[in-house]
Amino acid sequence: MAAAAASVILEVWERGLRQPLQRQAVALLAAVTPGAVEAEMAALPLGVRDSLLFDLRERLFGPELSTLATCPACGERLEARFDVSDIRAAAEAPAEGALLVETGGHSIAVRPPATSDLLAIPDGSDPAAARALLLDRCVIEARNSAGTLIDPAALPPEALPAIAQALAKADPQALVEIELPCEGCGVPFKAIFDIASFLMREIHAWAQQILREVDLLARTYGWSESEVLALSPVRRAFYLGMAGR
Ligand SMILES: [Zn+2]
Repeated sequence: MAAAAASVILEVWERGLRQPLQRQAVALLAAVTPGAVEAEMAALPLGVRDSLLFDLRERLFGPELSTLATCPACGERLEARFDVSDIRAAAEAPAEGALLVETGGHSIAVRPPATSDLLAIPDGSDPAAARALLLDRCVIEARNSAGTLIDPAALPPEALPAIAQALAKADPQALVEIELPCEGCGVPFKAIFDIASFLMREIHAWAQQILREVDLLARTYGWSESEVLALSPVRRAFYLGMAGR
């Protein structure tokens, strides 16, 4: 990681410590994207945001990912290793703007959810309440078979899978599922991989590590934090070795 990036990312990490991971992720993207502001990043469809996060992860820590998953059938804990390129959705650009979904005589104009929609869900909401709130925010207009405008909450439950399917197609990177073979029971299962929380946890571990390195080098050589962060990774590793680490 370049020195400039290290100090910017440390600053975002510190500011985000008590914030939800989703908010930290958009703050990070805004900090590393020239001219971008957080609100703009929070308004991107989730799949578009996640594509940027995958690119950033690759730049910061390389393309290899490793995560733990639990088999839903037998409870076996598995380590899954894969590459960013394995889970990037096909290069197809996400659809811009509203989508029109026609189902059961209803006609629904809807947009893909963004980080700002997730952050609007109050902590501790049950899944049904969260779904209703997302529907209310993301449905732009809903009409029944008579062409009359209706409240999104009045849509029949049968309409929801059609909406979910249309959104998944329009914004494919928003949901990443990895298929894992279970070593315990032999039955393969699918696990959801969320790059936003994965990358922010990774940055949390990285920040603690780098602050320990700053501590050791500051004690040994009397350098300031910014002097230590300005070292290239190669030279930092060299001095850490000299300092007896
Ligand atoms: Zn299993």
